[in-house]
Amino acid sequence: MLDILVKGGTLPDGSVQDIAITGDRIVEIAPQITAEAAEVIDATGDLVSPPFVDPHFHMDATLSYGTPRVNASGTLLEGIDLWGELRDLATVEEMVERGLKYCDWAVSMGLLAIRSHVDTTPNHLNTVTAMLELRDKVKGYLDLQLVAFPQDGLYRAPNGRENLLRALDMGVDVVGGIPHFERTMADGAASLTDLCQIAADRGLMVDIHCDETDDPLSRHIETLAYETTRLGLQGRVAGSHLTSMHSMDNYYVSKLLPLMAEAEISAIPNPLINIVLQGRHDTFPKRRGLTRVKEMQAMGIRVGWGQDCVLDPWYSLGTADMLDVAFMGLHVAQMTHPDEMARCFTMVTETNAQILGLQDYGLKVGAQASLVVLDAGSPTEALRLRAPRLAVISKGRIVARGARGDAQLDLPGRPDVVARRMDV
Ligand SMILES: [Zn+2]
Repeated sequence: MLDILVKGGTLPDGSVQDIAITGDRIVEIAPQITAEAAEVIDATGDLVSPPFVDPHFHMDATLSYGTPRVNASGTLLEGIDLWGELRDLATVEEMVERGLKYCDWAVSMGLLAIRSHVDTTPNHLNTVTAMLELRDKVKGYLDLQLVAFPQDGLYRAPNGRENLLRALDMGVDVVGGIPHFERTMADGAASLTDLCQIAADRGLMVDIHCDETDDPLSRHIETLAYETTRLGLQGRVAGSHLTSMHSMDNYYVSKLLPLMAEAEISAIPNPLINIVLQGRHDTFPKRRGLTRVKEMQAMGIRVGWGQDCVLDPWYSLGTADMLDVAFMGLHVAQMTHPDEMARCFTMVTETNAQILGLQDYGLKVGAQASLVVLDAGSPTEALRLRAPRLAVISKGRIVARGARGDAQLDLPGRPDVVARRMDV
């Protein structure tokens, strides 16, 4: 007897399949499975997807919007100042509570794996203590991967380097950095050499807040690619944001992208945040600040959409919905061809899972039994509707259920119910 049988769902590739689950594994995928199951989910006509994955988030700051006050200028730098106050006021207990609440939201949205940067600047490292506790509390249903993030600079902040190493010693998973925030370009480049060596020595992945600026001469991604290749870290390094690439000289970019491809660097643009924070010093025309997504993909560079912020000093909105993220991304990057829209869905599922290095991910026999049933007929429709999640299964357990997005109509001669789906 199976534990769970998901019947008749449409997979992202368009095939219609039943999915059988025993324990925490997918044990069979086939058009007709007749075995008995303790629980049957009827997904006929609905999209069944592997879970959403967020490769870039700040869990220590989330759900703190307005504390100690709102970001009046809307800039990255005022956000950093506000967070500098908040991180010394927030207790470990409060950060764990906020994180748990956010993870509830995430699970309800089928978002089951998150890479979160953790600020390692303050000597008390309360942020790190809180996030390690949170990672442990949610591990039964959500994979939280932590990045040691020297928010105020590896060299610019007192004890920046020492505290990053302490965080890694405490069990943080990934090496982070912020080269464009160091005092000089030279310090920024040196920080990358240092951080990549730390990762190589410890066998860790790297994820750098890289060139999150409108300055076209912020070219730290070049150094990151160089150090990745030099140290043999190919496939283990990500550059987050890369917004300066939006403003770079085209000739320079034609040299840069092959270097990134050679280094197998992943790129993580965060469209909701990039479109809000970048270009704030511009009058008109006002730059979008999103990095060159399609152009990198055309070079074979792996690109995943990240969320970055929800209700924190940098961003006043957000719902833990990776479809919102992809929806904004496809608009700002103008990825409106059907193939490009389908790719945007893949970016917030499969591609992001690859960036995190998740094992056992995906809809395949032997993989971990985690999936989402959406009120949509296809990935593109899921994006258009930001479709409701009807059921979420994590590690073999149904962890959330939701209602359809239908509305009741009362119009003469028109249907009683409207779903805004094309096939209903
Ligand atoms: Zn970030």
